[in-house]
Amino acid sequence: MSAVDEASIFAALKAIVEPRQQKDIVSLGMVSGLVVKDGNVGFAIEVDPRQGAAMEPLRKAAEKAVYDLDGVTSVTVVLTAEKSSAQGQPQGQPQGQPQGQSQGQPAGQRGGGQQQALVPGVRSIVAVASGKGGVGKSTTTTNLALAMVQLGLKVGVLDADIYGPSQPRMLGISGRPSSPDGKILNPMENYGLKCMSMGFLVAEDTPMIWRGPMVQSALQQMLRDVDWGELDILMVDMPPGTGDAQLTMAQQVPLTGAVIVSTPQDIALLDARKGLNMFRKVDVPVLGIVENMSVFICPNCGHESHIFSHGGARREAEKLGMEFLGELPLDIEIRETSDGGRPIVVSNPDAAQAKAYGAIAARVWEKVSAQIDAGGARQAPKIVMQ
Ligand code: ADP
Repeated sequence: MSAVDEASIFAALKAIVEPRQQKDIVSLGMVSGLVVKDGNVGFAIEVDPRQGAAMEPLRKAAEKAVYDLDGVTSVTVVLTAEKSSAQGQPQGQPQGQPQGQSQGQPAGQRGGGQQQALVPGVRSIVAVASGKGGVGKSTTTTNLALAMVQLGLKVGVLDADIYGPSQPRMLGISGRPSSPDGKILNPMENYGLKCMSMGFLVAEDTPMIWRGPMVQSALQQMLRDVDWGELDILMVDMPPGTGDAQLTMAQQVPLTGAVIVSTPQDIALLDARKGLNMFRKVDVPVLGIVENMSVFICPNCGHESHIFSHGGARREAEKLGMEFLGELPLDIEIRETSDGGRPIVVSNPDAAQAKAYGAIAARVWEKVSAQIDAGGARQAPKIVMQ
């Protein structure tokens, strides 16, 4: 099969006409961010945010036009729009769609409309979030997910950290997902864990400028258009931070609960509190907080140094009425194994650090399964943290 080039993609897209202006989307300058990599094509169509939902047929038509080209194995098209100052609402939310942000509304009824549809076969979805980047959110997600596999659960990881997707590297997965019908992608898999990440679809060194609506549709596609099969739990590695994009994401994914990862110094800076408030705003129960890089254990002598004021997370969690789920040390083996694609939970399962992940994973699953039993994952949860 010959490789597809940008010129033929643009030529195919010239056949797609924007219905209101009756001009093709290339001439109108609506196509942006084209990425072509080994037959995998991705680009954005810039639309008026008020037209978001109405533009879905256009998106589909563009996707099909490119998919029909010789040499194309997958196509990812996302709608994007500048934030509309007139709307004053989170980006990517089509107008007229219920917002579901009111306090006290059960999680199963958040949002409304198609975007809230639960993913068939997936019993629960748990977000792993952090107030800012670099606190070890992805490392924690990977190791907790793998610890859940060891508990005998069917587990998936959705890498929604599209600004810096790290799950492929942490799980030692390379290559691209296959798509037998060109529409639904098969997740990648390693260590018994299924994984989907934007990192599989775009080159690691490709700078991508994501705007709110693109983030939303990428996430929706990774949820909806991936054959996750039967899963007990899907862990979502959220983008760091607590801004609009994260809030909308938390609102649009039918989350069973959220885990907040924080380092001792962020706790002091109240980042964890912002994370908690974000999930409360959209009525997602916060399952608890994990303190990462809590103490430094010297690899040579085993001495424990409390570089940051260790113990702050536990106190802060108590103050905020959140459960303290556990702590992980700042440890060279955690770093080397996760960055090397063989996380400590699988490469050294008897290590104390691996056991610490195991204990946290067991507790998270205990809380999640209680919600599933109470109907929380599929309908309104019985437990809503106040
Ligand atoms: P985030 O997802 O919050 O941006 P990452 O999980 O990518 O953070 O971690 C950032 C860096 O810190 C990575 O190099 C990772 O290996 C390292 N790291 C994460 N947790 C630990 C830990 N407990 N001990 C040592 N290094 C860690």
